[in-house]
Amino acid sequence: MTAAAPPPKRLLLLISKLGYQAHAFADAARRLGADVVFGTDRCHQLDDPWRDSALPLHFERPEESAADIARATPHAPVDAILALGDHPLAAAAHAARALRLPYNSPESVETARNKLRQRECLSAARVPVPQFFAFALDDDLGLVLPRVQFPCVVKPLMLSMSQGVVRADSPAEFRAAVARIRALLESPEIQVTREASLDRLLVESFLPGPEIALEGLLEDGALRTLAMFDKPDPLDGPHFEETIYVTPSRLAPRALAAIEDCARRAVAALGLTHGPIHAEFRVNSRGPWVLEVQPRPIGGLCARALRFGPEKIPLEELLVRHALGMETRALERESTASGVMMIPVPSSGILEGVAGTDEAARVEHIESVEITARLHDYIAAWPEGSTYLGFIFARAPQAAAVEAALRAAHACLRFDLRPRLPVEHPLSRHG
Ligand code: ADP
Ligand code: CA
Repeated sequence: MTAAAPPPKRLLLLISKLGYQAHAFADAARRLGADVVFGTDRCHQLDDPWRDSALPLHFERPEESAADIARATPHAPVDAILALGDHPLAAAAHAARALRLPYNSPESVETARNKLRQRECLSAARVPVPQFFAFALDDDLGLVLPRVQFPCVVKPLMLSMSQGVVRADSPAEFRAAVARIRALLESPEIQVTREASLDRLLVESFLPGPEIALEGLLEDGALRTLAMFDKPDPLDGPHFEETIYVTPSRLAPRALAAIEDCARRAVAALGLTHGPIHAEFRVNSRGPWVLEVQPRPIGGLCARALRFGPEKIPLEELLVRHALGMETRALERESTASGVMMIPVPSSGILEGVAGTDEAARVEHIESVEITARLHDYIAAWPEGSTYLGFIFARAPQAAAVEAALRAAHACLRFDLRPRLPVEHPLSRHG
């Protein structure tokens, strides 16, 4: 007697941009025999070479998104949900609750997503975070300034990728930072996201010290560390675009254990229980401090830096397996050191040329050089920016060799960025 093959499992992938990251996850799901349904809030941007019809959703209205998902999938229920990037996280949590799928609670996700609420939650749980307070963009800065201790970091409550994050060392720098972030938040590009809390800013004490990222996976609230990355370029500001990530970390085992312990406490305080987390910390003489914990995987192409198990499956596949309820615990990260450089934008402009990629790719230990910015497109530098020119990947026996290779490859690259002539945008007060 032969049993009928079970129907393929269905994975709902929620993501704003149906770009590389979405396809890497979808390909992983298909390799595992699962069907993929996309849900996105950017249907007008459907770049659809695979002809995946996507559910149109409004991620900024998570409950409505959840109802739309439930309505759209009555006859073919989804078995698992994965949310990529920050925008769909709350919608994923509400949908998972409606569909009775394992996921983080909507409350935990909403607390983590909002930088002020995350700080309040963690500080109430005595998890080390910088000193902080929030103020409204309408507030009189003359009344705000007496509360600010320098150096400080000013940031929006809901953006990511270090967009709009600015260090200020004096009252004059603080005023300039607030004006600059306000202009960013009022720009059409940000207003179109309809994120809540775009009218307030967070001020924090600047935490000195090296920065570490932890990529983890939660199962029933238990945290498994998949990788810890050093960020060897000092992130002292005034802007904080990421550059190099290298794993394994070269910090002492005790310091890494303290970070993992801090991550566990943070996750527990936030109430996150299921699926991928990406967390960032600063470490100094007083131990680890939480910069942020987010219930999503590392962004963009960076996941490629992590491979697991004897078949060296990519992080995306590990996360899809976990989402589909498959066993992943035996899959350890490969023993090789690995790293990625997010190529920062030296100055805002229109990208008119890139030179040196072949030379960069020939540097020892470099695996690939991917320029993701499109020629003739405008690309903004930080703090207004949030997209990198591209990514460089390296693998070597030792972390130090990975870091050196990334720097050597980056030094080969030349970007021709031409300043854009100021044009008054009809919808923007800031041009
Ligand atoms: P985002 O969600 O946009 O990534 P973060 O709060 O993680 O915003 O800040 C981005 C980066 O800015 C951090 O990775 C860190 O380098 C720097 N940063 C943010 N807050 C602080 C702080 N209080 N002290 C020192 N550096 C900070
Ligand atoms: Ca961050």
